[in-house]
Amino acid sequence: MMRESVDTAGAAGVLYLVSTPIGNLEDMTLRALRVLKEVALVAAEDTRHSRKLFSHYGISTPLTSCHQHNEVGKGEQLLAALREGRSVALISDAGTPGIADPGYRLLCRCLEAGIEVVPIPGPSAVVTALSVSGLPTERFAFEGFLPAKKQARLAQLATLQSESRTLVFYEAPHRLLATLKDLIAVCGTTRPAVVARELTKLHEEVFRGTLAGALDHFSSARVRGEIVLLVGPALEVEEKPAETVKDALLRLHRETALPRRQLVKRVAKELGLPGAEVYRESLELPELGKD
Ligand code: SAM
Repeated sequence: MMRESVDTAGAAGVLYLVSTPIGNLEDMTLRALRVLKEVALVAAEDTRHSRKLFSHYGISTPLTSCHQHNEVGKGEQLLAALREGRSVALISDAGTPGIADPGYRLLCRCLEAGIEVVPIPGPSAVVTALSVSGLPTERFAFEGFLPAKKQARLAQLATLQSESRTLVFYEAPHRLLATLKDLIAVCGTTRPAVVARELTKLHEEVFRGTLAGALDHFSSARVRGEIVLLVGPALEVEEKPAETVKDALLRLHRETALPRRQLVKRVAKELGLPGAEVYRESLELPELGKD
């Protein structure tokens, strides 16, 4: 049943979780616009950012900030407004609130307090990227952002090595190459990978290939923009340890017949290992020939 009016006299207000565009302002639903215009208050992750959306669509509803640092305290104020019968919309900077964005704690608090919570669906980068990826979509696992520190990242990736669902990560542009190298170290070079960059924006790009191909593609210039990284499921045949340095050297030797030093360089890049380490191992493979 469609809700026609946002405020109901006498009753508690409703918390609306409103999705907003992830780049292209046209991706705003009619329902989201109506709700944002009709509620008493809009709680936004960054009010300056949301003012641009508001001015584009002529929305004049009062804005208040609700971000990860004030979500608990601000939640109590919003709850008081809801209890007084005022409806509140929660928005994040982009996409769906609560998805790698603030919102979860406020939502739980409202559910605890018996406040009605209504979703106003719309864009989210995870589903947008998955839908266009070409990777299996029947089952997927959203991993959000990986840890920024290498050791923690590697440890988390190790738990996902033989995951049989498509994996979806949010990634910062300056960490993409490091993450691809870590993924190669854990999952091997040939696992299918998709990098969806700047979705719905002017410079939208969807790279589809393997982990090694993605590393190669994005190594040539500084990576910019917003990124969703997807990794195809581990197939049964892939459920063997990641490719060793020697295997990688021999594979490239067969494929390219490059001289040893260039093979070493390519393998070091693919596996994210120091060149000296790869060179040492290459010396145990006489079939690679001389330098
Ligand atoms: N709540 C948002 C959602 O529903 O998708 C996600 C917010 S999270 C803080 C921001 C991350 O989402 C970015 O760092 C990027 O990984 C991903 N993202 C957001 N917009 C994107 C876009 N237009 N193209 C690719 N990735 C995007």
